[in-house]
Amino acid sequence: LEERLIHSERLASIGRLAAGVAHEIGNPVTGIACLAQNLHEEREHDPEINETSLQIIEQTRRISKILHSLMSFSHAGNHQHNSYPVSLTAITQDAMALLSLNKEQEVRFINQCHAEHYAEGDPQRLGQVLVNLLSNARDASPPRGRIWVSSSATEHSVCLILEDEGAGIPTEIQNRLFEPFFTTKDPGKGTGLGLALVYSIIEDHYGQIDIESPTDPLSQRGTRIRIQLPRATNTAP
Ligand code: ADP
Repeated sequence: LEERLIHSERLASIGRLAAGVAHEIGNPVTGIACLAQNLHEEREHDPEINETSLQIIEQTRRISKILHSLMSFSHAGNHQHNSYPVSLTAITQDAMALLSLNKEQEVRFINQCHAEHYAEGDPQRLGQVLVNLLSNARDASPPRGRIWVSSSATEHSVCLILEDEGAGIPTEIQNRLFEPFFTTKDPGKGTGLGLALVYSIIEDHYGQIDIESPTDPLSQRGTRIRIQLPRATNTAP
């Protein structure tokens, strides 16, 4: 418990710091992007300036993307918590539809959630959990790999189970996954905030998350994530 408290405390202070930094950096970055855009338009016929200004614009986009993750991460802590019955199959469907818009990494999403399983919580934030987890699963997947989401329930709780056919997670990094800024992805691709945000959202919902990845990568592939949440008693919308 103490470890969990220290973790939450660290997340909260990193969140406050992140919000301040993101806010302060946001405006000048937008300024740089505008100036580069002007330069690009004014010096259309100069190939060198053209190329450089495009690179500046591209890099400012990267910064904005990181700032955006920082902002949503820092808002996790002081978010006003809405509580509704949330259909697991509906939020899974929405997240899968959103990620399917990106045609670059083609995977097969399979929604096997039970239509009568509802969690008690905030639909937006639980939706964010699914988007983050499914996008990690997709990044780890081979081309045309399958990603399953299914559900189970007991009297007072529901479970979401996500499974992928990706490379799995090496044992030595499994206890660092929820650390803010921990990433194994290329700079520009990963911020390392996805699972930290997932962790704080689940914690705010009095839920629990477990990640299992085969210890012997040769015998079995893929990652399995299990999220337990309180079950909604009243499923009326
Ligand atoms: P990011 O996606 O920006 O790297 P996350 O906090 O979401 O940040 O994830 C941290 C790391 O956890 C990833 O860089 C990756 O190494 C690992 N990871 C998360 N989900 C999976 C998965 N389904 N399969 C393999 N590795 C994963």
